[in-house]
Amino acid sequence: MRKDTEVKLTEKNTRPTSMRILVYDFMAAQKAALSLSEIEERLFPADRITIYRTLKTFEEKGIIHSIQENTTTKYKLCSDACDEHTHRDWHLHFYCKICRQTTCKENIVVQENIKADFRIDEVRLFAKGICENCLEEAL
Ligand SMILES: [Zn+2]
Ligand SMILES: [Zn+2]
Ligand SMILES: [Zn+2]
Repeated sequence: MRKDTEVKLTEKNTRPTSMRILVYDFMAAQKAALSLSEIEERLFPADRITIYRTLKTFEEKGIIHSIQENTTTKYKLCSDACDEHTHRDWHLHFYCKICRQTTCKENIVVQENIKADFRIDEVRLFAKGICENCLEEAL
């Protein structure tokens, strides 16, 4: 019997090894983006290098995208629109100063159909503020 995750990985041209399935299932369950250290902590005793390699493979295959935050790189699952040729995560990444979580705001995007004579390969939209949960608690 094939699991959903195996099908997903195969669709993205990625061989579903047990490590990849573990990391995928974990990432799919996350609401916020996580750094390598955070992922490593939560997937203990999985080995850091193996997790890192898995994340790199996932990024190349359009399964996860990375978010650069000062010196930290965080990772988040992509939508189905991404593949091994192009990432389409042209949405805002929002960092909350209170809970320190970074989330994808898919409703704030750069229009993909901009008429231009140049080619965009990557878009980085990054904002800092207070997230909806923390705002609510502050009221
Ligand atoms: Zn992507
Ligand atoms: Zn917050
Ligand atoms: Zn994102």
